[in-house]
Amino acid sequence: MIDLIARPLEPQLADAFHRPITYLRISVTDRCNLRCVYCMPEEGLPWINKAEILSYEEIAEIVRAAAKVGVRSIRLTGGEPLIRKDLDRLVAMIAATPGIDDIALSTNGLLLADQVQGLVAAGLTRANISLDTLREDRFEAIARRPGLQRVLDGIDAAFAAGLGPIKLNCVVMRGQNDDEVEAFAQMTRDRAVAVRFIEVMPVQENVEGHVSQYISAQEILERIGAIGDLRPVDGPKGNGPARYYAFDGAAGSVGVISPLSHDYCDTCNRVRLSADGRLKLCLFGDHFIDLRTPVRDHAGEDALIAILRGSMYVKPERHHLDIGTTASAMRALSEIGG
Ligand code: SAM
Ligand code: SF4
Repeated sequence: MIDLIARPLEPQLADAFHRPITYLRISVTDRCNLRCVYCMPEEGLPWINKAEILSYEEIAEIVRAAAKVGVRSIRLTGGEPLIRKDLDRLVAMIAATPGIDDIALSTNGLLLADQVQGLVAAGLTRANISLDTLREDRFEAIARRPGLQRVLDGIDAAFAAGLGPIKLNCVVMRGQNDDEVEAFAQMTRDRAVAVRFIEVMPVQENVEGHVSQYISAQEILERIGAIGDLRPVDGPKGNGPARYYAFDGAAGSVGVISPLSHDYCDTCNRVRLSADGRLKLCLFGDHFIDLRTPVRDHAGEDALIAILRGSMYVKPERHHLDIGTTASAMRALSEIGG
């Protein structure tokens, strides 16, 4: 029988500044198999207690509630998401959620070749792979572990599995890898990748170094412009804050991400779920809401939706981090590579 009672559509999530929130980034672990100098210390990080990490079932429950109020895209990130066992099981659970039409992964690529086929079969639609250098000696210096060839194999495997377009995230640091910007850009002439250069941000590990390492998106574009004419283009499908450009006739594109400039904030459509179940409303700062407790208390979907709605009032208009300042919440950065 047809249900003739008109039901109002669930109003979609939007923050106090009228930005629709359609994108949820989920950190599935805080741990990693690399120790990138700009991200983590070599040792001594206080890892989150295993009991505090959300299970896949708990994450899926939050995703279902978020999808009911307009979240459409999910990104799995970390730490390194591929070190968490059976990630394809979580991807399948998210893919089965009505309303979710995009499931992306941010990875350092080390374990990608082994897992990508299973992930795509489970419903993964896109991947961002971090790659800061094309030289093994530098890879080891930046990531504090070897592995360049495994990352390159991971990129090839991702293409072979049909995961396109692939975005490569490259954090550019003056004096460390900025002389490779042109080589990365040349790669886009015949490979359908979007190489995205990310301005290095100050986090605990590089709060002193980042000022001297910092190189602006503008300077990166000028350097690439010196080896060929760049024109602005639409980026590949995605939710990122990058601006994209391409050489004439190139298969791929280059993008720049300037997290420290505030135009990044104007179009913000995202919130982040930490591995221990905190909903983070901004990349930096202490704006978060605990979702683990209501999930573990079996509060139910309506309660989760109410909490998600309430969290919108906590989302700030913009971050207040600038070049040369100290991050107020050092570990807040964990998912820039969108
Ligand atoms: N482990 C995965 C990876 O490396 O892609 C996912 C997590 S990682 C934190 C996500 C992205 O953040 C990576 O592209 C990484 O390069 C970037 N990132 C980490 N620390 C950064 C910093 N201080 N400044 C700019 N980007 C940073
Ligand atoms: Fe690990 Fe990614 Fe951080 Fe590098 S950037 S240490 S790969 S989480």
